[in-house]
Amino acid sequence: MAWIRASCTTCGDVELSIDEVQLLMCASTSEGSYVFRCPACRLIVSKAAEENVVDVLVASGVRLSVWHLPAELDEPHYGSPIGYDELLDFHFQLRDDAWMEELDAMALPRSPRPGASSPPDRTVSSDAVTQ
Ligand SMILES: [Zn+2]
Repeated sequence: MAWIRASCTTCGDVELSIDEVQLLMCASTSEGSYVFRCPACRLIVSKAAEENVVDVLVASGVRLSVWHLPAELDEPHYGSPIGYDELLDFHFQLRDDAWMEELDAMALPRSPRPGASSPPDRTVSSDAVTQ
């Protein structure tokens, strides 16, 4: 079995089996990292992995998990970011029972979702009944 030598920020160099290391690759940014639980202090250690380190870990048999950045990052954002004042105002609005109505009044009008259809027609055609 292949052994991986890694460095714990607390304990220094430690040796791990390939099953004790997990390699993570972000498909969106092509950045890699690896994570392991230190066998000495039991802390989780995560470190960035350059391309050559990724190649060595994959060749050694370390399991690779590919992940993507959340799609919410690509959503359009309107207006300026909220600040502490807006957050504090919202906090105080939540104390009032009418907060939901006030929030609805401030919201942008909703447009129908793409692909959304009207409720199904409950009329049964005679063709469907006779088949
Ligand atoms: Zn350690």
